[in-house]
Amino acid sequence: MDNSDQQGAINGILQLKKGRDKPVIQRHPWVYSGAVAHVIGDPQPGDTILIQNHRQKPLAIGYYNPHSQIVVRICTWDPDQPLSEGFWREKITRAYTGRQLLAFDPETNGYRLIFGETDGIPGLIVDRYANYLVMQCLTLGIDCRKETFVNILKETPLPDGTLPVGILERSDVAVRAKENLPQSDGLLWGKAPAESVTVKENGFSFEVDLIGGHKTGFYLDQRDNRQLLTSPSLTAGKEVLNVFAYTGGFAVTGAAGGATSILNIDTSISALELAEKNVLANFPERVDHDEYLAGDAFQILRDFRDSGRTFDLIVLDPPKFVHGRRDLQRASRGYKDINWLGMRLLKPGGILMTFSCSGLVSIDLFQKIIFGAAVDAGREVQILRHLHQGADHPILVTFPESAYLKGFLCRVW
Ligand code: SAH
Repeated sequence: MDNSDQQGAINGILQLKKGRDKPVIQRHPWVYSGAVAHVIGDPQPGDTILIQNHRQKPLAIGYYNPHSQIVVRICTWDPDQPLSEGFWREKITRAYTGRQLLAFDPETNGYRLIFGETDGIPGLIVDRYANYLVMQCLTLGIDCRKETFVNILKETPLPDGTLPVGILERSDVAVRAKENLPQSDGLLWGKAPAESVTVKENGFSFEVDLIGGHKTGFYLDQRDNRQLLTSPSLTAGKEVLNVFAYTGGFAVTGAAGGATSILNIDTSISALELAEKNVLANFPERVDHDEYLAGDAFQILRDFRDSGRTFDLIVLDPPKFVHGRRDLQRASRGYKDINWLGMRLLKPGGILMTFSCSGLVSIDLFQKIIFGAAVDAGREVQILRHLHQGADHPILVTFPESAYLKGFLCRVW
């Protein structure tokens, strides 16, 4: 069913337990099942629902999923606002004008257009790659409104005034299981892209596999951090180790900055093949110049340590290690281990660019992990800069979970 009028109308009331309304009042967009006193009416999964406090005061409107621990995702704090097509249209326009404000380099045509909760559309991710849109529906409430979103997206001009030519779905993410949803992929509207799409980022071109690549195809959130490596003062003449290289985001900018050599490590052979292709498309003169090594980074870095190999600049951009609170300790050890190894491989005065994209690892915890690694490695570490996700992944102050990517640019003695 995808009738936006029907979806927009309120189909039930959720009453919170006494004392559990504070996060809602403070505009956190998630209502956990433990906060619910009772549900009135017969709302179906995905339906629009009104949230009230224990005294029946209306607080907010969201969509409902009794199968999820997050039973409601709040979409508006105006209790008279139906979740109509017009409501979503306005949210989308607001998100797009936000990206216009960023005044991307005109040669950047890959960025996040809609970032879920922070853009007021919980559970919906939309990324732009040239004139293709890739959509991720993370929740049931978004899944059953998919047609509405596609209808709006296909006719809304992109921030540069052009129109999209195709909309793809990449809802092949594990979190959908928490919503009782199967994974779902495919063309939703328009023209299907070729095997890969060429995307521009700050003037560099990248081939992105929208169908088989990670996430929606590319790690758009690292754009600003990748760009740092184009600075010759940081990179020129350096031997660079790019760990967790994926399709060579940092390899391309490292080459632009004049790195003498770049050694890229990733477990994925196909990602490394694309990394090499991307480096050569931008810097054809680097043919047979850089190394692309497939394997487990933890093992390869240990082998380098044993053989006494060293580097001037190391990028550590691991995948998300923490998927739930239960993983936090084990994952912290993983972050410490890889950073300890990285520090061991750096020449004195070398540069370490290190990241964590786990939302549950706060910047404070990450700094403590780096501290532990430095002490164990017997190295002195100066943080030169704090690094973050790009501005197309805004952080909502009432939803601190949205600040998920953090990193440090360090000098290691
Ligand atoms: N820096 C990249 C993004 C990295 S994403 C960019 O700018 O685009 C994390 C990468 O780590 C993925 O490509 C994944 O294949 C790789 N990976 C995951 N576990 C790994 C391991 N144990 N050793 C090496 N690579 C790994």
